Amino acid sequence: MAKVFAIANQKGGVGKTTTCINLAASLAETRRHVLLIDLDPQGNATTGSGIDKLALSHSIHEVLTGECDLIEAMQFCEQGGYQLLPANRNLTAAEVSLLQMSGKEARLRKALEPVRENYDYILIDCPPSLSMLTINALVAADGVIIPMQCEYYALEGLTDLMASIERIGARFNPALKIEGLLRTMVDTRISLTQDVSEQLKQHFAERLYNTVIPRNVRLAEAPSFGLPALAYDKTSRGAQAYLALAGEIARRQRKAQQSGTN
Ligand code: ADP
Ligand code: MG
Repeated sequence: MAKVFAIANQKGGVGKTTTCINLAASLAETRRHVLLIDLDPQGNATTGSGIDKLALSHSIHEVLTGECDLIEAMQFCEQGGYQLLPANRNLTAAEVSLLQMSGKEARLRKALEPVRENYDYILIDCPPSLSMLTINALVAADGVIIPMQCEYYALEGLTDLMASIERIGARFNPALKIEGLLRTMVDTRISLTQDVSEQLKQHFAERLYNTVIPRNVRLAEAPSFGLPALAYDKTSRGAQAYLALAGEIARRQRKAQQSGTN
């Protein structure tokens, strides 16, 4: 049965999409079956996976509105080794029609039910807001991975985000957990980064991933070729960091299974 992780942060530009694409490719590299769901109308995870978002015959919006099956909309991302449920601007319209539907918060969860057993991991790339789309991701997920930059306002935004996740979880998905906090675009030469990193350790202890994603130009270049960093430059620090993150996530999961908390 797949573990479903929502990659969420209401802030834009913190590395959600980069984390989705590269974590999906890294988990696939270690022979896991992975489905990546693009839930952002900007369709960056779609383009970054090498799929033309303007030429989709089916996409996530039709899955959410019940116009097609999830399997019909899925495409295999050859270079990444994972399945992708693509998105484009039409998803904005789907969000509006979603608001009038019954069980609107659980549409994605329902759509995933028949395929959950086919995957080891399902990753959901959320838009930079706490919209009905993000709520759908949080209701469908077992855990939330929060990518964040170690900057001055990060902790403040984080408290709000966690309160929202807890509120949504309590109402619609009591089993939802904060799976982990991921430091992205880290430049260890900057002392503010180290200060914020220390604070995060104190506040979040074991929920903070040990793996840190460095600022790395290869990670920023790869999407313009429609490739995960692993396929673009496997030896880059960025690609290697996401491989390490995949390892850490798998280890955490094994540990949780052994202690019977999962
Ligand atoms: P979000 O999905 O949260 O809006 P993105 O993953 O799209 O954030 O990242 C925002 C921008 O920063 C993109 O241009 C991306 O290529 C770049 N970026 C993300 N992570 C890194 C990194 N570790 N090093 C360098 N650039 C990065
Ligand atoms: Mg994004």
